[in-house]
Amino acid sequence: MSEAATAAKPMIAGPREGLVVPYDASGVVVVDLQALGSNWQSLRDKVAPAECAAVVKADCYGLGAQQGVPALCAAGARSLFVATVQEARQVRELAPDAEVYVLDGLLPGTVNELLEIGAVPVLSSLPEISEWGQAAPSRKEPLACALHVDSGLNRLGLSAREIQELAHNMHLLDRLEVKLVMSHLACADEPEHPKNEQQLSVFRSLQPLLPSVPLSLAASDGLMLGPDYHFDLVRPGYALYGGQTHANRDCPVKPVVEVYARVLQVRELAPGQSVGYSATFVADRITKLAVVAAGYADGGPRHWSAASGETGGQVAFAGRLAPIVGRVSMDLITVDITDIEDFEIARGDWVEFIGPTITLEDAGASAGTIGYEILTRLSPRFERIYLGADASGVGEG
Ligand SMILES: *Cc1c(COP(=O)(O)O)cnc(C)c1O
Repeated sequence: MSEAATAAKPMIAGPREGLVVPYDASGVVVVDLQALGSNWQSLRDKVAPAECAAVVKADCYGLGAQQGVPALCAAGARSLFVATVQEARQVRELAPDAEVYVLDGLLPGTVNELLEIGAVPVLSSLPEISEWGQAAPSRKEPLACALHVDSGLNRLGLSAREIQELAHNMHLLDRLEVKLVMSHLACADEPEHPKNEQQLSVFRSLQPLLPSVPLSLAASDGLMLGPDYHFDLVRPGYALYGGQTHANRDCPVKPVVEVYARVLQVRELAPGQSVGYSATFVADRITKLAVVAAGYADGGPRHWSAASGETGGQVAFAGRLAPIVGRVSMDLITVDITDIEDFEIARGDWVEFIGPTITLEDAGASAGTIGYEILTRLSPRFERIYLGADASGVGEG
């Protein structure tokens, strides 16, 4: 939708004070760009003198690269990580001066596209290294790349055997400028897990075999493990967007996202009446039910559903929690509001899914998943509202 069309729309009072929203929004995703920029700065300060990059893959974890990337750059981020070539193309346009690393590396046949974009592939295997190297002789300058080495995650990355082979064939890197050697942790969200130290020591032991260039091991949780894990550059994504996998760890970030939807109807059930598809929830008392304009098509996990006797997802009305009951359907969610007696809930009211009462982690946990998945599945149907969009407000400092 064009900006002019949005601007012309009548606005109404939103889910919280000071927030106005288009009158016809069934739900809103509120993204605080000021908080995003200041989260990056807090992490930068925490890891200095290491560099703090920003992981902006998956459309800034679902929150909008169009708005998120300029906010992060205005805050001071210089190195950005995306997953795919298409993401690199979009991010390059938004951040002409940033270093853009592509975590998927070199998909066969994408050399020219990456060169044209001016993105740096994170190479994870010898075939990728040689394919990238073959593009080099036609260029004046050595070609920039990063190397991903596996230290125990067994996802992407050069294996120990490939690293040995590379060490004996260093000419493979002759025409390449290796900007970064990186690896990724498997269990950083469990600080006591022995795998963290194991991977740290494997990563260190590989250094003599590799070019001596800046190193990077930690993402959001990894950087919380302490300075041993920072090396020269850290790669947080989730924490920038307000994610804190450990409530009790001292992660210096603030929430960035709030999600609200509107009540379409309030109805009363007699004991014995069922709610929703497959009649999984049956009222055992006179039950007041709010029908809310949010469903799995908006990004609400179907695992928030709760049959009688089960606990599923929760929402909040003005700070008061209420349980989702019955099945989450495509466009609708049903909530038991019987126990909220001290104020009236009515058609048109706002319901919180993520906000001051329900954290991103809670929203994930109550569906048996993680906040990352909740963020990246938020759909475009809810209106996006960006606060602090004026980049000048997100200054260096
Ligand atoms: C996604 C990703 C990150 C960022 O992880 P967060 O947990 O969101 O901070 C960093 N490095 C790699 C290799 C990734 O795939």
